[in-house]
Amino acid sequence: MEQTTIIGAGIVGLCTAVALQQRGVPVRLIDEREPGTGTSFGNAGLVSVDSCIPIALPGMLKQVPRWLADAKGPLSVRPSYLPAASPWLMRWIKSGASERGAAKQSHALHQLHKDALQLYRKLLGMEAFSELVHVTGQLHVWESPTKTPGDLLAERLREQNGVAPRVLTGADIFDLAPGIDRAVQRAEFYEKNGHVANPYLLVQRLFSIFMAGGGEFLRQKVNGISQAASGAYRIITATSDLIAGKLVICSGAWSKRVLKGLGLSTPLETERGYHVSFDPNALDIKIPVLHKERAFGVTPMIDNIRVAGFVEIAGLDAAPDMKRENVLISHAKRLFPALDLSMKKSFWLGMRPSTPDSLPILGGLGAMPNLYFGFGHGHTGITGAPKSAEILANMITGAPNNIDVTPYDINRF
Ligand SMILES: Cc1cc2nc3c(=O)[nH]c(=O)nc-3n(C[C@H](O)[C@H](O)[C@H](O)COP(=O)(O)OP(=O)(O)OC[C@H]3O[C@@H](n4cnc5c(N)ncnc54)[C@H](O)[C@@H]3O)c2cc1C
Repeated sequence: MEQTTIIGAGIVGLCTAVALQQRGVPVRLIDEREPGTGTSFGNAGLVSVDSCIPIALPGMLKQVPRWLADAKGPLSVRPSYLPAASPWLMRWIKSGASERGAAKQSHALHQLHKDALQLYRKLLGMEAFSELVHVTGQLHVWESPTKTPGDLLAERLREQNGVAPRVLTGADIFDLAPGIDRAVQRAEFYEKNGHVANPYLLVQRLFSIFMAGGGEFLRQKVNGISQAASGAYRIITATSDLIAGKLVICSGAWSKRVLKGLGLSTPLETERGYHVSFDPNALDIKIPVLHKERAFGVTPMIDNIRVAGFVEIAGLDAAPDMKRENVLISHAKRLFPALDLSMKKSFWLGMRPSTPDSLPILGGLGAMPNLYFGFGHGHTGITGAPKSAEILANMITGAPNNIDVTPYDINRF
């Protein structure tokens, strides 16, 4: 079979590379960095098979001023970047305008997420899967006893997708997560959800599988792409010109830049997020806990306890906001008073690749045959990568997909 070239060795590029290899397709992977050191490196590592709630929802707009005014709030927009982000923000608001639209996005998210565990098992093999993916469930918590209209809408959307968490109150919450602060009033337990031992270990293992399967890896920055008269794609790097018959763009939040040379524009923005990690002995925690009002999560990983969250709209190039470190630490300490802050290990900024409707862009364009897109996974790329890889591998090899893939089509924008 003809070789396929993939630009980007994050979770999406690597899952796609291995899925193609498993169908007998030779793959060349290009990345300017070591595999898995982009956004796939420092995320919260949650594999949320039950996750089906788009980020933009009806009623959200009313909350935005309050979030922006709160220095410890979940959302910030850097004023100097606002003009550049405005078109995307407008589309984001529009995409969350109706419950009908949210229901369609919710269904498409669920289709992409629900089989993540089985598909990871297929990509990794049984042994690596048991080592790297832990199906412990996830606990979502709230300090307010009252449900907001947004909470009620999310409940309806989950119901439509057959997602039924266990609702917990009182002692049941603290039995499940003993160290949690008593300010927590209500909780939901998602028993089918899991998390990875560490997302970087996951991507490294996929890379080993890829190389052992005869994959080719080039560590080079792609500076431009053009289409040759033959229809093939010319990939320009600092040291070489490469020709690709079939090309897949899996360059995460940088995909828009990578596609510029082809004259293509996509509504992709980065929702920047942060983590602070601690030594595993800093807290006794067995399952991931997500604080839904403050929009952060605490994940017990094999080599660290990771506190991750925030949405910061500031583009790809701005320096990290160092104040976010203390905000994350204070959120985590408030939720888990026993957290030993002296055991802090790292502070990290990552670039979520986000579309206005929370759905990735998967598939081709028609006008440019043999060019495929695999980016835009936003908040759930670790969860959505294996199904995205299956969809792309089927498209590239001409096999049918078992779900409706039109919600992920680039032409929806
Ligand atoms: C704080 C935070 C927490 C998160 N938590 C979760 C979670 O719990 N669960 C979940 O499912 N998702 C989570 N996510 C989202 C998830 O991390 C992303 O959706 C996912 O990592 C995106 O993967 P990717 O492969 O598309 O991008 P990346 O991992 O960023 O990979 C893209 C690659 O493309 C390469 N590249 C870019 N431009 C070029 C170029 N010009 N030439 C060569 N190479 C190039 C980059 O070097 C990079 O390696 C979180 C994200 C953040 C920021």
